[in-house]
Amino acid sequence: MRSTLFNEEMSYNRAPGRDIFGVRMLAPTLMIYGTEDQKKTFLLPVSKGEVQWCQGYSEPGSGSDLASLQTRAVSDGDDYVINGSKIWTTMAHRADWIMVLARTDPDAPKHRGISFILVDMRSPGVSVQPVYNMTGGHDFNQIFFDNVRVPKRNLVGEENRGWYVGVTLLDFERSGIDYSATSRRLLSELIDHFRASRNNGEPMGEDFQARNMLTERYIEAETARLLAYNVAWMQGQGLVPNKEASMSKVFGSETLQRVTSTCMEVLGLYGQLRPGDKWAPLNGRVPENWMFSFSHTIAAGTSEVQRNIIASRGLALPRG
Ligand SMILES: Cc1cc2nc3c(=O)[nH]c(=O)nc-3n(C[C@H](O)[C@H](O)[C@H](O)COP(=O)(O)OP(=O)(O)OC[C@H]3O[C@@H](n4cnc5c(N)ncnc54)[C@H](O)[C@@H]3O)c2cc1C
Repeated sequence: MRSTLFNEEMSYNRAPGRDIFGVRMLAPTLMIYGTEDQKKTFLLPVSKGEVQWCQGYSEPGSGSDLASLQTRAVSDGDDYVINGSKIWTTMAHRADWIMVLARTDPDAPKHRGISFILVDMRSPGVSVQPVYNMTGGHDFNQIFFDNVRVPKRNLVGEENRGWYVGVTLLDFERSGIDYSATSRRLLSELIDHFRASRNNGEPMGEDFQARNMLTERYIEAETARLLAYNVAWMQGQGLVPNKEASMSKVFGSETLQRVTSTCMEVLGLYGQLRPGDKWAPLNGRVPENWMFSFSHTIAAGTSEVQRNIIASRGLALPRG
């Protein structure tokens, strides 16, 4: 049964205009792989925040082993006809467009028969079902494609070479600035709270254990920020970050988990109070952020997958 602890307006990706998929992921990918026509059509609306994109990668049977995906795109004249299903698709219920990884050659080795296709969410045959998360919020969805026709001009890169387009996009997705930004915002509000509040008559900021924890988290959040800035710097140089993005993702997401846990720990029972409660520190945002933080080491590739990437591509170790 759906939890009513938090409502949709309070869910993590609450702002309809917050299109991280278009700005952070699709736009830099199109700048590398897109045709001139695709750049003209898609980049300007993305930069103006006029469209919402979502990412159709994961499937019910394909997550970490993404190249095993089964959604099919069959060539038919000037179109592809797409059938299959995607899951965990963040913001699909508000999206105008979706970037889909689909199998165009079922006989090729699994990484080589995949294409990257842009699909209008209003196309006949696309349907979206909500998947509620443990905060009670609605971020995820399952999407079904039932004979969806897409013009071939929406293919990004070459047919059957979409895997390489898709992983380039993942490298941009994993830049990780949102993890450090959320960590820093939560920490800064928490530190303000500690400066201003008293516990049993004593200034909260004098608590030795809390001071140490806040300091540790502050160092980690600053480190996460610099790792994310390194990724941004590489993008600015025209380089595609790879192990650097994975390092930023794994460290940023795990830092955010430690920050939300620290918030819960140092605020004691007050940390569990929700928005609207007059005693709730940080406007009651701590419980939601803590619960949602569990997903950060899964989304965009799990921490285990990131460590595998760093080990093999960064440290040149053989695959385990
Ligand atoms: C908040 C959130 C948002 C998401 N948004 C989207 C989205 O918008 N679009 C989209 O396409 N997907 C999205 N996803 C899905 C996400 O990409 C997958 O959940 C993720 O890739 C893991 O896949 P899985 O859930 O199938 O887990 P599995 O792949 O089944 O993994 C299960 C466990 O096995 C471990 N494991 C698997 N393979 C290995 C290995 N080789 N070595 C070591 N350990 C391994 C994993 O680390 C994990 O702990 C989202 C997920 C979350 C949590």
